[in-house]
Amino acid sequence: MDSGCGPAPEHAVALHPHDDLPVLVQHLMPDLDQPDARLAFERPFLQVIYDIEVPRMAFGRVCLLGDAAFVVRPHAAAGTAKAAADAWALAETIARETDVPKALSRWESEQLALGAQLLERTRRIGRRSQVDGNWVPGDPELIFGLRGPGR
Ligand SMILES: Cc1cc2nc3c(=O)[nH]c(=O)nc-3n(C[C@H](O)[C@H](O)[C@H](O)COP(=O)(O)OP(=O)(O)OC[C@H]3O[C@@H](n4cnc5c(N)ncnc54)[C@H](O)[C@@H]3O)c2cc1C
Repeated sequence: MDSGCGPAPEHAVALHPHDDLPVLVQHLMPDLDQPDARLAFERPFLQVIYDIEVPRMAFGRVCLLGDAAFVVRPHAAAGTAKAAADAWALAETIARETDVPKALSRWESEQLALGAQLLERTRRIGRRSQVDGNWVPGDPELIFGLRGPGR
């Protein structure tokens, strides 16, 4: 699949309408028995997931928050909490500092750090669960949370 959004990320699967299903299944799951795979995946659905990160969230009197700044992989189930945390912190900072560019600049440094740590964590969990395959159910790192597992 060509998303038209630049180079595909590492491990992305290129799909084309003319791809034959067995070829696709073979590519995705080389260990699967083909007839079984045909039965189980008559209409395969693939959702490509992209990360987004920004080096800045504040631009004078304008800011990026929530998904507009960081879109993270779903493994921490924390995108909504991060969007809310960005907004909450913004409201608190602006209530204390009436000079908006100064307030945004102060707010930015903490929210950038929050977004970056969440992104790094979800990339690590995603890699372990989807690529390396070296996590086991019950691993505490897999507990959902914005600031860390369960937090
Ligand atoms: C399938 C899926 C499952 C998810 N599951 C979870 C989960 O379990 N837990 C979790 O925490 N997070 C989850 N997320 C992530 C979560 O939904 C997002 O991180 C969160 O919604 C980000 O909030 P936001 O306010 O930044 O952006 P959004 O919720 O995307 O809000 C942006 C809003 O802006 C509007 N908009 C866009 N362009 C314009 C425009 N030009 N003019 C006016 N309005 C505009 C949009 O319509 C939208 O309402 C999931 C996301 C997806 C896609």
